[in-house]
Amino acid sequence: MSLLRLCCYCISRDRLAITLRSTFKIKPLCLPNPIKYGNYYAHTKKSDFKCWNCQSVAHTKPSLFCENCSLIQSAVLQDFNYFELFNLEEQYNINTVQLTTNFRKLQNLIHPDKFSNKSNEEKVLSETFSSLLNKAYSTLLHPLQRGLYMLSVHGINLEEHSITLDKTFLIDIMEWNENIEEADTKTSIEKLKEDIDGILKNTYEEVSNAFTENNLNEAKALLSKAKYFVSMLEKIKEKDV
Ligand SMILES: [Zn+2]
Repeated sequence: MSLLRLCCYCISRDRLAITLRSTFKIKPLCLPNPIKYGNYYAHTKKSDFKCWNCQSVAHTKPSLFCENCSLIQSAVLQDFNYFELFNLEEQYNINTVQLTTNFRKLQNLIHPDKFSNKSNEEKVLSETFSSLLNKAYSTLLHPLQRGLYMLSVHGINLEEHSITLDKTFLIDIMEWNENIEEADTKTSIEKLKEDIDGILKNTYEEVSNAFTENNLNEAKALLSKAKYFVSMLEKIKEKDV
């Protein structure tokens, strides 16, 4: 189901509408010119964020452009998270096709190339917004980074709150690393990559279950392990056979 569609109430006026989704019902909400303002969000949130130029209060967040003066807004001064930015429900299992579609829509609206004839303030804001957008996109796209980001939203930072991994797991990791170092044919490297990809796929499924059950400690433990396998994939990539 597309989130962006013609409003069923005022289709005659040719306005686009936002579909507000909740668990069991759909509410249409008509907004004027959503493409101009970037207001395609289904998960609109009330905001008291003020425009840096005209001091108008934004009614929803994230706010890309001021509804009053139309100027680009500051990304860093707004309190929104990456899921809100991409109009996605805050959950581990996301639709990456939808993520990419929404990323392109937003990128198209705030890319610095579009601001080459604008004021310095607008140029700086578009650069900052655009770089945050890129960072948010790569974070949500990558399953490990997405999980770590979700933990950070809950105040858990893996670097600061490291966990003690069991001895058997660490011995396993040493063996994997030895195998990677010793692999000297394309076939053996591809086999290792395939095995690690399989382990990661299963781990991410468990991560998803842990988040669904709101078991953040389990998600943290699983992501700590996944980090080792992701770094092994990096090592494999660097191998020149
Ligand atoms: Zn304004």
